[in-house]
Amino acid sequence: MSVLDRSSMFRDKKVSYLLNKFISGVINEIAPTLDPLLGPRYAVIEDLLGIDGGEEAYEFLEQLADAQILTRKFYEKVLLCPRCHSFHIIPRFRCVYCGSRNIDKSALIEHKTCGYLGEEEAFIHGEKLICPNCGAELSKQGEDFRRLGIWYYCKECKRRFDHPKEVFLCPSCSYEFTLENALWRDAYAYTLNPDVYDEFAQFSLNLTPIERALKRVGFSVEFFGSITGRSGVVHEFTIVGRRENQQVLVLDIETSPSGEVSIEEIVKFVAKIVDTTPNISVLIAMPSVSDFARRFAKEQKIVLIEAKSVEEASQKLWVNLLASYG
Ligand SMILES: [Zn+2]
Ligand SMILES: [Zn+2]
Ligand SMILES: [Zn+2]
Repeated sequence: MSVLDRSSMFRDKKVSYLLNKFISGVINEIAPTLDPLLGPRYAVIEDLLGIDGGEEAYEFLEQLADAQILTRKFYEKVLLCPRCHSFHIIPRFRCVYCGSRNIDKSALIEHKTCGYLGEEEAFIHGEKLICPNCGAELSKQGEDFRRLGIWYYCKECKRRFDHPKEVFLCPSCSYEFTLENALWRDAYAYTLNPDVYDEFAQFSLNLTPIERALKRVGFSVEFFGSITGRSGVVHEFTIVGRRENQQVLVLDIETSPSGEVSIEEIVKFVAKIVDTTPNISVLIAMPSVSDFARRFAKEQKIVLIEAKSVEEASQKLWVNLLASYG
């Protein structure tokens, strides 16, 4: 993922909010809590996204990890129901011979005091362990008695075995599955990729010349501001500027690693301004656009600024604004 691709993620209000928390030291690591019903949960991200459980927080974090903005650190291995993907699963133990769940475990007990050796069952009297040979109460394991190995027995088929068959039940969809069939997932804790500190700081700083140019002609500047369109949809812009006389300016920055910002990006911007009807719409395309896109922007009355750097863009913006407000 290139610096330019990442910077397009930095423009997301929620991403930039989160990165600021990391950079200011409020957050050092995003680790999950393990919810017995809902699996790994990330409270910080759920708050940020305004959700209560579900996969969205995980997907948000994974997207940032894929972009190498966050770094994954193994935290826990969790199992999911292979049928309905529920995290809420219950272990079940079955007889290896007949499959019954009506099994118990037992051990051989040696009563050191009298030397008697017998099955644990024979010692059990309510809460107590009483030696069936000498009648004494057993007090402390390791001192007057010891257990010599554990085995399991089935109350249905009366057979014994070393290990019961372990399976899992999903109460949500009543499906029983084995460990081999379970879905395995790594739950991660996430930290900020150290490379991103500088990059993000650079990105935030980079907008300062643009902010300055706008302020010089009387606009207040809101970064990552949003405007509700006539359709009711909330649109986000890199900058929303406002002037005393109710004038609204919106500004987006589009970057392209391949050299030309695609027409699709410009169409998306146009769709936002058609809905929000600002007085001035500025699109900064870095580094350039195609001839076709340039003509299209002109038809749509967009102030299109092509520049190789934010510095260059702010110069051009300044000249353009001066013509209108100077
Ligand atoms: Zn299930
Ligand atoms: Zn059995
Ligand atoms: Zn005894």
